[in-house]
Amino acid sequence: MIKTGLYIHIPFCKKACSYCNFHFSTQLKNMDNLVNALVREIKQRSTTEKIGSIYFGGGTPSLLKESHWIDLINSINENFSNQDIDEFTIEVNPEDINQDNLETWKKIGINRLSIGVQSLQDSELLWMNRIHSSKQAIKSIELAQNIGFNNISIDLIFGGPLKSDEQWKNDLNWAFEQNIQHISAYALTVEPKTRLEHEIKQGKSPELQDIKMVSQFNILQTEMINRGWDVYEISNYCLPSFNAVHNSRYWEGLPYIGIGPGAHSFNGKNLRRWNIANNARYIQFSENGSSFWENEELTPNNIINEYIMTALRTSKGINIEKIISLDSSWISINKASIQYFKNQGLILSNNNLIQLSTEGKLLANHIISELMIVD
Ligand code: SF4
Repeated sequence: MIKTGLYIHIPFCKKACSYCNFHFSTQLKNMDNLVNALVREIKQRSTTEKIGSIYFGGGTPSLLKESHWIDLINSINENFSNQDIDEFTIEVNPEDINQDNLETWKKIGINRLSIGVQSLQDSELLWMNRIHSSKQAIKSIELAQNIGFNNISIDLIFGGPLKSDEQWKNDLNWAFEQNIQHISAYALTVEPKTRLEHEIKQGKSPELQDIKMVSQFNILQTEMINRGWDVYEISNYCLPSFNAVHNSRYWEGLPYIGIGPGAHSFNGKNLRRWNIANNARYIQFSENGSSFWENEELTPNNIINEYIMTALRTSKGINIEKIISLDSSWISINKASIQYFKNQGLILSNNNLIQLSTEGKLLANHIISELMIVD
């Protein structure tokens, strides 16, 4: 039986990081009302489907108080009682990691922490408008390990104007020495309507340089391969058998239920649903019983395109048999493009698989859009 993932979005942060365009609010006074609305949605979405993973993302789930956790977990256990949990992850920020919180998280069954370290340079953390210091990040991992968390992922960001290649290597070396199991490493990008975009436009922050991003991406790939880490998705790396169970559902087209403002759901076949990405309206609509979500039925082309988009980002690549089963004409339509990318060394292909090469990963978006079906 295919298991379903359960995602709960906690849309609050103490401070807005300069580069971030996720859905969150810094109005922490609304947390109690939002948690009540989450509990109502959990009841509405009650199911007998088997839940295989739980993921609290954000925002900053580590801001939740113990009473919030009790309400949410009780409600999850009541309404999603058919559970066979392989992984229960929460995203946490280093400044929230302390003995009390760790004990609460352990007690409720969380078995994986995803820690937003981002950088080991204090000047860069400050520039990103992060709250924590490098010292706090280091300490947070030690505390989590001391209490018994032995599946820890950290987020790192590379390619920013303040980070030299040497510093990036140092960040990675430090990470490898921490006895952690997973690293998500993202190239810094300038997203619309972020403080970073504004600062660059105003000339208050230097522009990002592609050359630096490419160089640091290559350092990342080399380090991961040399150290025997599994390069299993463009931004995700792990020690063997520590790949992210919940997040892998997104890349493998498996079902998940998303609860909370801005959260997305997928039935593993052809139906998507997404909730309104606005805390005040999510709470208001939930309180007065109005609907706060939209649905979409995927067309056959949507399904193929989503498969191309997600599969090519992973080391599994596009499975030829699977794509032929979705559209028997896809191979002949894309034969010339596939050959071209192969000749350029951007993809690796044989009779069964098409995968991005390391060089191809740098051009992933372009290659993916070339191979997608146009309506
Ligand atoms: S990066 Fe994380 S902590 Fe920072 S604003 Fe975005 S969601 Fe919040």
